[in-house]
Amino acid sequence: MTDVPNRPVTIVTWHYVRDGAPGELHARTVAEFDSQLDHIAGNFTPVTLDQIRDHLRHGKTSLPENACLLTFDDGYRDHHDTVFPRLAARGWQGVFFAPTRSAGDRQVLDVNRIQFAIAAVGIDQVVRETRAEIDNARDEFDLPDSGTLYDTLAVAGLHNPPEAMFVKRALQTALPEALRTRICQALFERHVSADEADFAAMLYAGSDELREMHDGGMAIGGHGWRHQRMSELAPGDRRTELERSRAFLESLGIDTTDGWSFCYPYGAHDTDTVRAARDAGCDLAFTLEPRIADLAVDDPCALPRLDTNDLPR
Ligand SMILES: [Zn+2]
Repeated sequence: MTDVPNRPVTIVTWHYVRDGAPGELHARTVAEFDSQLDHIAGNFTPVTLDQIRDHLRHGKTSLPENACLLTFDDGYRDHHDTVFPRLAARGWQGVFFAPTRSAGDRQVLDVNRIQFAIAAVGIDQVVRETRAEIDNARDEFDLPDSGTLYDTLAVAGLHNPPEAMFVKRALQTALPEALRTRICQALFERHVSADEADFAAMLYAGSDELREMHDGGMAIGGHGWRHQRMSELAPGDRRTELERSRAFLESLGIDTTDGWSFCYPYGAHDTDTVRAARDAGCDLAFTLEPRIADLAVDDPCALPRLDTNDLPR
């Protein structure tokens, strides 16, 4: 009988790790991050993706007690400059999920365009300008007026006030994709930067940095091509997101024939999305469902993760 005594894995996810970031970025400061690493060192044993693979494939390889996997989303430059040297010094592996569009094509993701526009001019102005853009585009896209749309979407979320939820919902899902992108681009160009490639090079690690991290023992995974909510895409678009994620990893020199890892943008996944990931050759995929993973029970292509906010700082 196979003995699998230590199946729980605490998988933690970070985004920004930097000092002096505006509140919209929900960044950990470097000191907070260091103290979280100390907390992990005292309470957990970090494991690698391959240790998890071995455990799932061969069962007999047991994981250490209080196993922990460290993951980092969106491919920010912080991960190369600040996180990578710290994990390497401790002999730990981080798993870094980089979208193809930002890391490879040097374009700014819509989620970041919105964050930095809000950081520059405040949420109220972003709401006003988003509503004006919606009203300008009403005929073209057959939309309700922005007041009606505001009342529908501006419902306070768990961590966000109504205004922020309106911007989030309108610009991530509710509006037609072409209009969402147009508004995100306009806000970004008006308030953040007219040189997108230059801003992207500052914000994200590029292929060279990701290769360097991979050579230095870190794991790199896919995070979509355009960083879209996969569960809301048509099957063909979903496949494209996965194929371009995999091709990007291959372009970094990562062999994906035996499986590769993926992180669902915004954690958005459903049965079809998970199946599509598996069909694309992905063997480990990660959500944002906030609980401790149990490898004996959880689908390896829908593993839950705790947010960095759930760890002491
Ligand atoms: Zn993301």
